[in-house]
Amino acid sequence: MTSSGLTTAMVRRAVEAPPLITEVDLPPARHFIDGNFVEGSTDRVIDVVDPCSEAVIARIPEGTAEDIDRAVAAALAAQAGWARLVPKERSELLHAIADRLAQNTELLARLESANTGKPLAVSTDDVGQAIDTFRFMAGAVRATTSLAAGDYAENHLSVILREPLGVIGVVTPWNYPLLMAVWKIAPILAAGNTLVLKPSEQTPLTTLKLAEIVADLLPAGVLNVVNGYGPTVGARLAEHPDINMIALTGSVGSGRAVARAAADSLKRVHLELGGKAPVVIFPDADLAAAASSLRVAGFWNSGQECGAACRVLVHESVAGQFIEQLVGEVRALVVGEPQAGEEVEVGPMVSKAHFDRVTGYLERAKKEGVRVAIGGGAVDGPGYFVAPTVLVDVPEGAEVARQEIFGPVITVETFTDEEEAVRRANDVPFGLSASVWTENARRSHGVAARLDFGTVWVNSHLVLASEVPWGGFKGSGYGRDLSIYALDDYSRTKHVMHNHER
Ligand code: NAD
Repeated sequence: MTSSGLTTAMVRRAVEAPPLITEVDLPPARHFIDGNFVEGSTDRVIDVVDPCSEAVIARIPEGTAEDIDRAVAAALAAQAGWARLVPKERSELLHAIADRLAQNTELLARLESANTGKPLAVSTDDVGQAIDTFRFMAGAVRATTSLAAGDYAENHLSVILREPLGVIGVVTPWNYPLLMAVWKIAPILAAGNTLVLKPSEQTPLTTLKLAEIVADLLPAGVLNVVNGYGPTVGARLAEHPDINMIALTGSVGSGRAVARAAADSLKRVHLELGGKAPVVIFPDADLAAAASSLRVAGFWNSGQECGAACRVLVHESVAGQFIEQLVGEVRALVVGEPQAGEEVEVGPMVSKAHFDRVTGYLERAKKEGVRVAIGGGAVDGPGYFVAPTVLVDVPEGAEVARQEIFGPVITVETFTDEEEAVRRANDVPFGLSASVWTENARRSHGVAARLDFGTVWVNSHLVLASEVPWGGFKGSGYGRDLSIYALDDYSRTKHVMHNHER
């Protein structure tokens, strides 16, 4: 219980369950460079922590700029050979990787849950999506379309070629360690590039495991993984002269740092950053459907989700009714450790630092007079658990309504008319995703068109598919994951023009 007395969640513990992982499940605690797991250039290590028990479950080497340089050299040497494969050959290798992931789904899910605390249902879903991403990219690369070859200038035949960019540097976050890595790896490889990837220093296990289980499928140097911290290893990737693009999924601050570091070499930058998704609910909406949808979309991955339905803007005439329904849904959420049963829907925050960040937002909001309808603070440890929370009476411009909390917290504001709803929904520094809830088709089209977000759902939230693009506007960055647009991002067009005048 917190001082507010409103924290109702209990952590369901796995009292008699065996541990999620044992020593044999762990990947080699090394870097993966040029087809082999190798020692780094120093003996320094980084602790990898289970956020449910707070125990250290692995130690990985802390990479250096020197380790990055070695990996980039390997990726550069492998690039021309990889690019020479015809799409069918690369496609078959991507399908083989997808098969390996499928064979190892259970192991990958347990590793992901052990490292992040996420419910097994979430990590299993992550692996399923990762497999589908590889399969989609394997198919899409064989069917790329372009401007038809033809004479667009008299007696000159134009042909558009799609070429890989070269070597791509990738930096991934901790919230979906495997899936965010695969969202980059699959299109990058499909398009004929090689890469060096730095996973989050907090969650390297499934990325290293992926490298381990596909090592025999890919030519050496095509995929490289270097562990380490952002400001050293990530920064070296961003500035490295032999890297043609740096792709980062992470916070706005890291996005800025990477873009700055990339400027000197004028490399391309691909950024998937934070979000603060508004959920705009009009009086004619199906309120029960919206509330039950938010139970998933607001709390999936414990709210550590860049598209989370975290900021409700509801019409004042139905606000009371909607809040009651939403609180009913949130009260039913089961918080717990991954191995505490299939009913567990919400896990801990990934780290102590992030737990402090999330609870700090809640404490400040309470001090500022925001009302806690349910939840509102930490749940008893061990582990970094925060109670699923709904904050109401949130004034316009409040910190919790504008900044990314990245935890199990939904804020509720009210509006009086459509103009106000659109203006306030757009009044955040982010532009990743949003949803609008109404039965009125004219309104849903009109409002969706005016919302300044890369994805807008109508009567839904957080539904993704490999065929459709994911990416943001404004502070959420630029560049697209998934879909043929990601393949476009990781390749370049070349125009070849033949003079055939006789
Ligand atoms: P983070 O920015 O702290 O870390 C992300 C990665 O960037 C890590 O690997 C980190 O080591 C690295 N990094 C940090 N500083 C760096 C630097 N100066 N140069 C190079 N790399 C650096 O983010 P996080 O806390 O791991 O992840 C959460 C954030 O990611 C949230 O803001 C979330 O919204 C965002 N995210 C966005 C998407 C999306 O698709 N838009 C998806 C998942 C997460």
